[in-house]
Amino acid sequence: MEMIQGLSISKKVVAFTFDDGPHPLYTPQVLEIFKDVGGRATFFMVGEEMEKYPKLVKRVASEGHEIGNHTYSHPYLSKISDEECLGEIDRNEVLVEELIGQKPVVFRPPYFDYNDQVCRILDKKGYSMIGALNFEARDWEQPGVEHIFRASLESVKEGSILIFHDGYGDRSQTVKAVRMLVQKLNNQGYQFVSVSELLRVFNE
Ligand SMILES: [Zn+2]
Repeated sequence: MEMIQGLSISKKVVAFTFDDGPHPLYTPQVLEIFKDVGGRATFFMVGEEMEKYPKLVKRVASEGHEIGNHTYSHPYLSKISDEECLGEIDRNEVLVEELIGQKPVVFRPPYFDYNDQVCRILDKKGYSMIGALNFEARDWEQPGVEHIFRASLESVKEGSILIFHDGYGDRSQTVKAVRMLVQKLNNQGYQFVSVSELLRVFNE
């Protein structure tokens, strides 16, 4: 199983992804940004956070965005047993299904830490493993709005997947940078799609 970081598509589409939420302050701010341009994004949510903010999970889905699996408690998957790994993925899946009536189909491993066993489990369960192209942006380290904006913009081409974070800490820099990016790309004629939509366009 390969990590999908972007797809070669000859169409101006890009997939923004947000990890570690939902978060009561930042997730709604991200939703507003995408509402303004009629775009969709993907939120790789953590099970423990979904349990704290179930209404927010439902809101994200009802506004047309995709919810991806980012495990239940955000562990290093290569450092736990196979059974625990399966449990982490399943507990997240059950929560998503309970809250929005649909199972997640895309997965991102916490810390991008995974091994062959993780791949086998994901494969068996039918997940696609999703990476990103703008690692240089490192929004999780709060390197400054301008840095997140510039480094992400450099990674944008047709079919790019971009990673950001809306949970686990102060994400105000991320929100500002994403607002600037979305405005800029919207002006360039890009459409904002979920990861599953991107996969669909690619397979057409
Ligand atoms: Zn994470």
